[in-house]
Amino acid sequence: MATRQVTILGSTGSIGESTLDVIARHRDYDVFALTALRNIGLLLTQIRQFSPRFVVVVEEEQADLLREQLGDSETEVLAGAASLEMVAAHEDVDTVMAAIVGAAGLNATLAAVRAGKKVLLANKESLVMAGDLFMDSVRGNGARLLPIDSEHNAIFQCLPPALKGETVSGKQGVRRVLLTASGGPFLDTPARELADVTPEQACRHPRWDMGRKISVDSATLMNKGLEFIEACYLFDLAAEQLEVVIHPQSIVHSMVEYEDGSVVAQLASPDMRIPIAHGLAWPERMDSGASRLDLTAEAPLEFRKPDLHRFPCLKLGIEAARVGGTAPAILNAANEVAVDGFLNNRLGFHQIHRVIEEVMSKIPCGAATSLDIIHGEDAHARNLANELILQVNC
Ligand code: NAD
Ligand code: MG
Repeated sequence: MATRQVTILGSTGSIGESTLDVIARHRDYDVFALTALRNIGLLLTQIRQFSPRFVVVVEEEQADLLREQLGDSETEVLAGAASLEMVAAHEDVDTVMAAIVGAAGLNATLAAVRAGKKVLLANKESLVMAGDLFMDSVRGNGARLLPIDSEHNAIFQCLPPALKGETVSGKQGVRRVLLTASGGPFLDTPARELADVTPEQACRHPRWDMGRKISVDSATLMNKGLEFIEACYLFDLAAEQLEVVIHPQSIVHSMVEYEDGSVVAQLASPDMRIPIAHGLAWPERMDSGASRLDLTAEAPLEFRKPDLHRFPCLKLGIEAARVGGTAPAILNAANEVAVDGFLNNRLGFHQIHRVIEEVMSKIPCGAATSLDIIHGEDAHARNLANELILQVNC
C-alpha cells in the first residue's frame, strides 16, 4: 500500500504527541506537516525525527526562531493562519489529525473537511461551535470524519456499520447512546471544598494524561457537556437519545443501546493511542502501542448517574445541545475564557460555571447559518466573559 501522508494540527500537544507515537510504529505513514502554537524545542525534536515537508507555527517570530535553529533542512517553516489551512488542505495529504485545542482549531479543521480529507477529529470545540455547518461540509465534500475523542470513537465502533457517519435516529434499531464520563478528579469532593481547588489539582486527572484546558473541562464536567453536543452532531442524535453515565474506571468508553435491549460497549485501557490508531488505520486495524486490557486486574467497574447539581457545567452543556443554533458556540467561548481565567488564577473553580451561565443568559441564541455569525457570537461571548471575570476581581 502507498504511504499515507498525515498532517498533524497541534503536534506538540498531548494528542499530537500520541499521534506521532503511533505513526512512529508504522512504516506506511509519513508526516507531511506538523503545526504548533509555540514550544519550539519540542517541534525541533519532532522535525528531526519525522522530517515533515512543512512545519507551521502561528507567529512569524516563532518561525524565524525555528528556521535559525533548524539550519539546513528540507523542512519548510511557515507561519500564520493561511499556512495552517494550506497544510490541512494540501493535495498531497491523505489524513489530517485535528488536535489544536479550542476554537483556534476551527478554520484549519474545516479547511481539511472542505478539501475532502480523512479527518481525525480530536478538536471537539470546532464541531461544538459550528456543528450543522461542519457536518454539512463533511457530507458536501466527501470528507471522512473519524472521531478521536475516546467516547465518540467508542460509539462509532458500537454503531451498526451502515450508520457510521450517517443518520442514527430511528434507524437500524438504535434506541439510545450511553456516553460515559470518568467524573474527573473531584467526583467525590464535597461541593464546599470546590471553591479552593487549584489549577494543579484540577489538572491531575485520575485516569487520563491530557492538556490543561481539557483537564479542567474534565474536572468541571464541561468536557462531558461539550461531548454531549459533539455526539448529537456527529451521530445526528436528539438530546433525548443520549444519556451520560459516570464510570470512574474509564474502561468502558461508551455504549449503544438497541431496541431489543442489547447494549454494545467498547472497552479499552484509557490510552488515547487506541482511538488514534483506530482512526488512522480505519477501516483496518493496527497496533497502537497500548497495553492490553486485563479485566481481571481492573477494579470492579462502577456506573453512576451524574450529579448535575454539583457539576452544573454538564447541565449547561446539555441545555446548549437542546437549544442548538449559536448556543453551543456561545457556551464554548465563555468556557474557554473562564477556564483560562481559572488556570491563570483570576477565577475560582466554582466560579467557572457562573461566568458561563451569565454569558448564556445575556446573549440571545440565534440560528448558526454562517461562519461569520459563529465567529461573531464567539467574540461577543469572549468579551462578555472577560468583563465578568474583571468584575469578579474588582
Ligand atoms: P494540548 O494543550 O496538549 O495541545 C494543544 C495543541 O494545539 C498544541 O500543539 C498547541 O501548540 C496547539 N495550539 C494551542 N493553541 C493554538 C492556537 N491558538 N493556534 C494554533 N495551535 C494552537 O491539548 P490536547 O490535550 O492535546 O487536546 C487537543 C484537542 O483534543 C482538544 O480539543 C481536546 O479537547 C481534544 N481531546 C484531547 C484528549 C486528550 O487525551 N488529551 C482526549 C480527547 C479529546
Ligand atoms: Mg473524551
